[in-house]
Formats: sequence, C-alpha cells, structure tokens
Amino acid sequence: MTDSLTAFAAEKLDQLESRSLRRRLVPTDRIDGIWVERNGRRLLSFSCNDYLNLSHDRAVKAAAIAAVERYGVGAGASRLVTGDNPLFRELEARLAALKGKAAACVFGSGYLANTGIIPTVMGPGDLILADELAHACIWSGAQLSGATVLAFRHNDMADLAAKLAAHRGVAARCLIATDGVFSMDGDLAPLDQISDLARAHEAWLLVDDAHGLGVVGVGGAGSGSVYPTAHIDLSMGTFSKALGGYGAYVCASQAVIDLIKTRARTFVYTTGLPPANAAAALAALDVIAADPDLVAAPLANARRFTRGLNLPDATSAVVPILMGEADRALAAAQALEAQGFLAVAIRPPTVPPGTARLRLAFTAGHTSRDIEGLMSAIVGLAA
Ligand SMILES: *Cc1c(COP(=O)(O)O)cnc(C)c1O
Repeated sequence: MTDSLTAFAAEKLDQLESRSLRRRLVPTDRIDGIWVERNGRRLLSFSCNDYLNLSHDRAVKAAAIAAVERYGVGAGASRLVTGDNPLFRELEARLAALKGKAAACVFGSGYLANTGIIPTVMGPGDLILADELAHACIWSGAQLSGATVLAFRHNDMADLAAKLAAHRGVAARCLIATDGVFSMDGDLAPLDQISDLARAHEAWLLVDDAHGLGVVGVGGAGSGSVYPTAHIDLSMGTFSKALGGYGAYVCASQAVIDLIKTRARTFVYTTGLPPANAAAALAALDVIAADPDLVAAPLANARRFTRGLNLPDATSAVVPILMGEADRALAAAQALEAQGFLAVAIRPPTVPPGTARLRLAFTAGHTSRDIEGLMSAIVGLAA
C-alpha cells in the first residue's frame, strides 16, 4: 500500500512529467574546464559557469589542497564560534578592496547570502522592488524578510520609476534588488539608471553579480565597474561561477557588514565555509588580477558566437537561444548532445513560461574551432 505522502509525490511528478518539467540528475564527470563525461560519452560543454576554467586551474587546486593539508576539510563550527579561519579575513579584505567598499562578509553560498542579507536589512512595513528576472534566491530572501515585494519589468526603468512613485511613500525603508548580469539572459542591468532612481527615492541598492565577477568590467571587477557612477549599497556575488569554486560574499559599509555578521541567520546559524574554499577563492582572485587576457576571453568568445550567428552582441559570457516550449528546448539539447555538445535546456520555473532555452556559457578555454562547431550545430537545428 502506498502512503499518502508518497502518492502525493508520485502524482506531482506525473503532472510535471506531462509538461516536460520533471528534472533528472545526470552524473557528470567534469574532466577539465570544458570537457565533461556523461553517459559514457565525452562532450564539449557550453553549460558550465566555470567561465575562466579555474575549477581545474593548477594554482587554484594547489591552494585548496594546501589548505586542506593545513586546516582539514571542514570549518568545525559556525564562523562566530570557531569557524573563522584566518583566510576569511584576508579574503574579505581582498573582496572589499576589489569592490571599493569598507568591508565584506563571506557566506557559504550565493543562495545563503541573499536569503541572509535581505531579511537582515528589510522587514514588515518595508518595500522591496526586484527585477522580474532576478535570481531565485533574491526572491527567497525578499519573501523571508516579510517586506512587501514587487517585481518590476525586466530592465524597464519607466516601470521601476512608476512603482517607486506609487509605493515608496508608505514604506519605511526601500530596497531595489537586481542581478548585475542576468543569469539566464546574459544581459546587464542598467546600474547607473537604477542607482539614480534609488537615490531619488531614498532606496538602497543590492546587486547580485554572480555572473559578472571575473568576466565583465575593469579587470573583471564586475558589473559595478561597468557603471562607475552607480552607488551600490550591497555588492553581492559568488565564488561558484568565474572563480571556479564555492562560496559567496557581500561588500558594503563597515556597519552594514557588522550587522550582517551579527544578525544574518544564514551566517550565524550555519557552519563556516571549509577553509579550502577560501584558499581557492583567494588563488582565483590572484589569477584574475594577473591575467587580463584570460578575463577578457569568455566575453570575446561569446561575441564571436553572437556575431557569427547575427544575434545581438553578447554583453557577458552567457548567451540564450530561445526555444519557446520546454519540449522543444529538451529536443534541441538532445540533438546537440548527439553531436558531442553539452548545452543543457533551461525550463520554467527557472525561466518564464514560454521562454525555455538553451543557455550557452562561453569560457576562456573554448577555441574558435569549438565555437564554430557549436554554431553549425545550432544552425542545423533550425533546418
Ligand atoms: C548561481 C547564482 C546564485 C547562487 O549562488 P550559489 O553559490 O550557487 O548558491 C545567486 N545569484 C545568481 C545571479 C546566480 O547566478
């Protein structure tokens, strides 16, 4: 006999399956920066966020291994108890300097960062305005805060201005939250204009630059450096994309960081990041600082692809190929896989209904031959 919870789950799964929305794990062996092995086959990946291929970089790996040898594999407790390895102080100072802020706080992951930061500074009676395409963890953090949460249309400054005019007045505090580089579309938020609106309406600005750090802006400093006039109160990002590792950070003023370290629940009540992750992030930042050609390569490769196919010029390492319905995106991904390319289909609710897509991620390690091969395979899909 099936218990009612199991029956509930099975029915839910059936419903999702019938809409091509069920998801399945595929064991994937990432051999290096761009090649992966799945189902016994070697595939050229355009689906890893490892834009600089630093996950397998010799110096980054060596730094992580040395930290494991010296400090062990785990932090042992939360940062506030005994988990505050000395590497975190060094890493936070580096990040704050990179972002032109007084201080920084490292979190276990990007998801933990946004779900901790937002409820620390926002609560009932406050207003959060988030771009409709902002990352899921911004929405989770916003919901957790108990503030009134409204979406503004993607990168639509008139809509943001109208919503500020209509709703800002009654709210005690106001936060505007956006991705710096949108994770599924690859476009940049107009941070200069958003910052002007924030200033005019006494709102704070949080920018999630997970896909900007190491790829866009001056020396890979991120999307904030593309818009030097923008004032970003909370400059957040991760080590899990271009830095090739795991973990996240927020940079802000000293008092804001001190408050976050005192009150953010996803900082206080969770074990510190393993020291090796901090060591890897520091080594990755060293590579980024020393090698501007490497930093420029993912965007250059994405542009080679978009120019070759007469698509709008890429503005980051991420290029979406819109497919519409989920089953079409899945079929396209399968067809590419049969030709040796890994381009994972992204479906709702990760993206809005009707905009299922292949989300292509270009890395420094892709050669022009790799990119041309992918271009002809994608042209072949349409035929
Ligand atoms: C990946 C991502 C996150 C989550 O970061 P994790 O470290 O993987 O939890 C947050 N925001 C954006 C925009 C992302 O792309």
